[in-house]
Parts: sequence; C-alpha cells; structure tokens
Amino acid sequence: MSIIEKLSSGVTEAGNTITQKAKGISEQTKLSGEISKNKARREEYIKKLGEAYYQSQRAGEEADLSELIREIELVDGVLEKLTESLCQLKGIVICEKCGTEVMKGSAFCPSCGTAVKQPAVIRCPKCSAQLEAGSRFCVYCGAKTEE
Ligand SMILES: [Zn+2]
Ligand SMILES: [Zn+2]
Repeated sequence: MSIIEKLSSGVTEAGNTITQKAKGISEQTKLSGEISKNKARREEYIKKLGEAYYQSQRAGEEADLSELIREIELVDGVLEKLTESLCQLKGIVICEKCGTEVMKGSAFCPSCGTAVKQPAVIRCPKCSAQLEAGSRFCVYCGAKTEE
C-alpha cells in the first residue's frame, strides 16, 4: 500500500468514526426529544386526572379514573424504556435516589452517595465475556447464551 493510499484510508477511517459519533449524537437528541414529549404528555394526563378527581369530589360522585391511570401507566412504561436506551447510549446510569447521571461502572452516586444499582450481567458460556442480562448471543464470539 502506498503512503498516499495509507493516508487516504486513514482519513476515511477517521471520517467513519466521526459519522458514527454524529449518528450517536443525533440518536441521543431524538431520544431526548421523545422523552420530553412523553413527559409533557404525562403532565397533561396528571392534570386531567386532578381535574376529574376534583370535579367528582365536588359533585359528590365516585369518579372512574381507571382509564386515565392506565394512560399514565402506559406513558410511564414508554418513558422508562426511552430513558433506559438513552442511558445505554450515553454510557450512564441514573441514581435511583437523586436522579443524577452517574458514569456506568460507578459503585456510588457522586451527589448523594447512594449505592448505584449495577445492570445485571451474565457470562458467555464459551468465552466467558460479561454480557448484558437478556442477551441471547455473545457480542464477542457469537455463541448462544443459555437464557
Ligand atoms: Zn444520587
Ligand atoms: Zn462469547
């Protein structure tokens, strides 16, 4: 390989890395957008819930709020999944107590000192690499896990 070829292939590689980084960032932006959208929706439902409750109390009636509560539960589920994906992308975990973003692998929250829940891991039966719990295949050697 000539020096020029080497150089240009190096440039392409660097270019690819940058593109991948940009991809990761736009993915994060997308997720953050979805999270705030769902948070706004949740607030909306909570408001409706409060209003419905107030009206029913005022009228001295038993309000049926189960539908609203179901909607909120749905949004909560979506929010949880979105937050999880965002954390994975950013390589962080969220402190359960104070909500601080903590670097993955930290044992304690730097803000409040709470022990950080570590994501569950399993081991690859073939190469014994650590894998995220629920992985069906090893990301390092491709072996099927026992799960
Ligand atoms: Zn904390
Ligand atoms: Zn493996």
